[in-house]
Amino acid sequence: MSENYDPNNIFAKILRNEIPCDKVYETNYSIAFRDINARAKCHILIVPKKAYISLNDFSLKASNEEKVDIFNVISWAAENANIKESGYRVLTNVGEHGHQEVKHLHFHLLGGQPLGGMIKKLDII
Ligand code: 5GP
Repeated sequence: MSENYDPNNIFAKILRNEIPCDKVYETNYSIAFRDINARAKCHILIVPKKAYISLNDFSLKASNEEKVDIFNVISWAAENANIKESGYRVLTNVGEHGHQEVKHLHFHLLGGQPLGGMIKKLDII
């Protein structure tokens, strides 16, 4: 059974301007703002404006314009944060195993310092 989008998730409230964010960029389709609990010197979240729960939802339902736009915004944010040359990491958490906390698709853009290995090696269960 597929999950329903919860319009009261925190990013939906940010998109409706009900709570503030530290915005760095915005297009017709996407918005980029700083993570409230930065895990690195640069930690920006890139979020589609329409209601998509995760990458699963977005890949099925978003238009090609939205898909192109979100990658352009990620790239723009990296350039604007001056981390394009030094390097950075882009990730999106999906669902339970991905440990997604906010159920509105977002890409994390992390950089501004060495980030270490990808994730710690897990015990395979
Ligand atoms: P997830 O675990 O869903 O991939 O990441 C959710 C991210 O949203 C976390 O990094 C968390 O710090 C961030 N976050 C949660 N609440 C807020 C908020 O109210 N404002 C901002 N800017 N970021 C938030």
